[in-house]
Amino acid sequence: MSVNVDGRKWVEGTVVERHQWAERLFSLRVEAAIEPFEAGQFGRLALVIGDELISRPYSFVNAPHEHPLDFYFIVIPDGALTPRLAALEPGDKVWVGRKGAGFFTLSQVPGGRDLWMLATGTALGPFLSILKTPEPWRRFEKIVLLHGVRTQAELAYADTIEGFRRSHPEQFQFFASVTREICPNAFQQRIPHAIESGTLEQVAGVELNPQHSQVMICGNPAMVKDTVALLKSKGFAENLRKQPGQITVERYW
Ligand code: NAP
Repeated sequence: MSVNVDGRKWVEGTVVERHQWAERLFSLRVEAAIEPFEAGQFGRLALVIGDELISRPYSFVNAPHEHPLDFYFIVIPDGALTPRLAALEPGDKVWVGRKGAGFFTLSQVPGGRDLWMLATGTALGPFLSILKTPEPWRRFEKIVLLHGVRTQAELAYADTIEGFRRSHPEQFQFFASVTREICPNAFQQRIPHAIESGTLEQVAGVELNPQHSQVMICGNPAMVKDTVALLKSKGFAENLRKQPGQITVERYW
């Protein structure tokens, strides 16, 4: 079934799985016949609450060719939608926006030798979608994914990430930054500090510089701001439509 509400087209989806990663972190897997989207884009989920359709954007974690759709989100305790999404069970219905949207995609990223992917929290999602497609592996020599979270329990999708490491052992490296508890094999610094101190480059054995690197950043707006400022001080420029650069960002909320 599909409907039009507020100028958007909605498809009725069916929840096939709900997975809880940590206290506030959930993935919802949904079967819905939406239009093709580009890896890195976001879709929308909506529920009828009272007499209103309440919707929010959520990045796809699945690649465009994969089903079911996979959405990774954090529950905002007094939020209108996320506590209800987190309570859905397999078989429940949820409205899904028929079209994906957004520009945080590899088609917006200029050429380069290495690709750096910097995410905090649930903003890991669009990177996983991109990494599940052939394009990044074809275009870049080295790919470094850094995921910044507060606690170790929030390091979601470890099996998916391990799969990338196994299938591309020379090309791909993953690092975690866990800032609010001691976690073995993770940085204890925030993402900008791991870059500024040189630790990230050192352990990755890859140089982060404007000549060879493209950097995609998504997550906590303060992290995005701080990281962009740091990279600009190292000679990087934001990638704008009129003027290509080396930093492509998604301001996540
Ligand atoms: P978070 O506070 O975003 O922390 C995730 C990681 O980012 C932590 O390692 C944190 O370090 C780091 N960080 C925070 N500020 C930073 C900065 N200025 N520079 C560099 N790194 C920084 O945690 P979260 O649990 O993922 O999200 C927190 C809240 O954001 C949620 O409870 C929710 O309210 C909101 N949120 C909203 C949406 C949405 O779509 N509306 C999505 C995600 C999150 P520290 O531990 O040192 O702070």
